[in-house]
Amino acid sequence: MVMEIRLGDVVALRKPHPCGSYEWRVVRLGADIGIRCLKCDHRVLLPRSEFERRVKKFISRGEPAPTPGWGATAP
Ligand SMILES: [Zn+2]
Repeated sequence: MVMEIRLGDVVALRKPHPCGSYEWRVVRLGADIGIRCLKCDHRVLLPRSEFERRVKKFISRGEPAPTPGWGATAP
C-alpha cells in the first residue's frame, strides 16, 4: 500500500530529533520528502521510502492535493 503524503501533514516519527521533538511537518513533496521539525525548525530531505519507514503515525493531515478531473475547477 502506498502511503498518501500531503503537504502540511504533521507526522510523528519513530525516533525523536536530537532536540527532543517527535513531530514534523511535511513541507516538500517529490522524489524526496521535505520535513521540518516543529520544535527547532530544522529541515531534512528524506527519500520517500525512508520517510515511510520513519513515520510512526499521522498527527494531522494537510489539504488533499487537487486532482484534475475530480471536480476540481482548473485555474
Ligand atoms: Zn528538532
